[in-house]
Amino acid sequence: MKKREFLKANALLAGSLVLNPFSVWAENRRARQANEFTLPPLDYDFEALEPVIDTLTMQIHHGKHHAGYVNNLNKALTGTNLGGQSLEEILAQISAQDTALRNNAGGHYNHSLFWKIIGPKHDRPVPKPLHKAIEAQFGSLEKLIEEMKTAGMKVFGSGWVWLALGRDQKLFVSSTPNQDNPLMRNLASPVGIPILGIDVWEHAYYLKYQNRRADYLNALWPLIQWEEVNRRYKAALA
Ligand code: MN
Repeated sequence: MKKREFLKANALLAGSLVLNPFSVWAENRRARQANEFTLPPLDYDFEALEPVIDTLTMQIHHGKHHAGYVNNLNKALTGTNLGGQSLEEILAQISAQDTALRNNAGGHYNHSLFWKIIGPKHDRPVPKPLHKAIEAQFGSLEKLIEEMKTAGMKVFGSGWVWLALGRDQKLFVSSTPNQDNPLMRNLASPVGIPILGIDVWEHAYYLKYQNRRADYLNALWPLIQWEEVNRRYKAALA
């Protein structure tokens, strides 16, 4: 996600859509009038995350699950007045009744973020701005990881665990059911801008880990692209 999109997400959270409905919003509408969302390609090969995430899981997860959310999002947008809006704008407006949009706009956003914040590069240590914020809020990186693993184990059924920046400019850990996320301000609590999300749906890990979600949640951390999480953190602060 580009910085401008973060700014937009931030502006949405602040409610400035009402105050300032023009500028970047209009530009965005012009840029994508057809409102066809597309499946973003991965930055790495399907086998690049072995042995933590197996090749077949990546192929199905990206090529079938994520692709399905994109297709169904485009269908769900047909006939609505949301044409041309950004994914973040759409997410901010979703209510509990909008089942198809909720699941598929959420699914598209969440997976697009997930593919970016995992990867084959081992880019520790955590960059300073993010590391300082993590220490301030959680005590240490290790404690943050423990908190996210615990939150992941507590999700009943399918959902996501988030590290996000709240309206108070502080980091928080939360979980959401199904494909919800903290940008859905009518549905999520707390509301914030996600900078790291972990998919705890069974489809994310079942082929390799079967029912052992804890093993998946323990194994995942060497894949986290902290440079990218830091970039998103700084953009969310702006
Ligand atoms: Mn998934």
